[in-house]
Amino acid sequence: MQEVFYFGAGPAALPQPVLEKIRHELLDYRGSGLSVLELPHRSDAFFEIRDQAVRLLRELLQIPEEFAVLFMHGGATSQFSMLPLNFLGPGRSADYLCTGFWSSRACDEAARLAEVRRIQALCEDETLSIAPEHEWDLDPQAAYLHICDNETIQGVAFPEVPKGPREVLVCDMTSSLLMHPVEMQKFALIYASTQKNLGIAGLCVVIIRKDLLEQSNESIPRMYDYRRYAREDSVVNTPPVFAIYVLREVLDWVRREGALPTLHQRSLARSAQLYQVLDESRLYENRVAPEFRSSINIPFAIRDAGVLKEFLQQAEHNRLHGLQGHRSAGGIRVSLYNAMPDEGVARLAEFMSDFEARHLRT
Ligand code: PMP
Repeated sequence: MQEVFYFGAGPAALPQPVLEKIRHELLDYRGSGLSVLELPHRSDAFFEIRDQAVRLLRELLQIPEEFAVLFMHGGATSQFSMLPLNFLGPGRSADYLCTGFWSSRACDEAARLAEVRRIQALCEDETLSIAPEHEWDLDPQAAYLHICDNETIQGVAFPEVPKGPREVLVCDMTSSLLMHPVEMQKFALIYASTQKNLGIAGLCVVIIRKDLLEQSNESIPRMYDYRRYAREDSVVNTPPVFAIYVLREVLDWVRREGALPTLHQRSLARSAQLYQVLDESRLYENRVAPEFRSSINIPFAIRDAGVLKEFLQQAEHNRLHGLQGHRSAGGIRVSLYNAMPDEGVARLAEFMSDFEARHLRT
């Protein structure tokens, strides 16, 4: 098989050892005679997979006991509706800080179901940045403040967790969970769908402070009720068994790769390599102000737009895949999740420099 480095934003590359283990266990899960795809969701084998995944998440992220770890269907987009369904209603509104595509979408979806306040905090001047916290018009009565710490499309990230309301900070970490340590005490609820850095699509991890469960609304449809997921250990109907299995395998791999502070340092060093190429370039342009640059998703434009197609074709020829920008943004986007080998980053940096040199000569 030809080795390819895949920079797609999600579904994203899985670690090679995880793929190999899945292949191995696909036909016979640990001597059970069943494929992991066939495991009953109320079998001891599945409960063990689920419980180990929860334990590994708790260990890697140092999640305290006062938080529940839940596995849900429907990706992160379901959370956009679940949050207002569970926590908003007459007399209870929420603040949504909009710093890019996904936080805006979360806000739009919530607005269909409840009263929310949109706080536009993405500054689009010459560079992209996040407005300083003292400029946010926060409602002290808001049921929660929603943020997205790493905007996957804009490549804009918070340099640190906002100081804002400590009590109920809700964060979409779909593209950042497990890329760095998380100060859990600063959050009330964190969610992340798993097809980027945690496995495959079809699953969303939710980490929720238990006291919040007590404040949620009554009579919520079964599939959207956080309390029910907590009560029934995430088996509210047939859960996505295979996605939870892949999650466990990815978490086990991450643990073997090192603790999150180590992976974070690696992530910073790798993104710095690419930002250096961008900063020294006359051809490429990343618009994000340095303080707000994501170390995970790095979008950039090519100043000579006519060569975008050529860039992508030549990149693929060099086995560098998945570089096309999001359909709403165009250009290029590089996603550097944990599964990307260092060699892939070095090869991409070299390709970008060579491509520019060749282009500027012509
Ligand atoms: N939030 C962020 C930050 C994302 O990057 C994405 C997907 N790219 C989503 C939410 C939506 O996730 P899903 O497709 O799993 O619903």
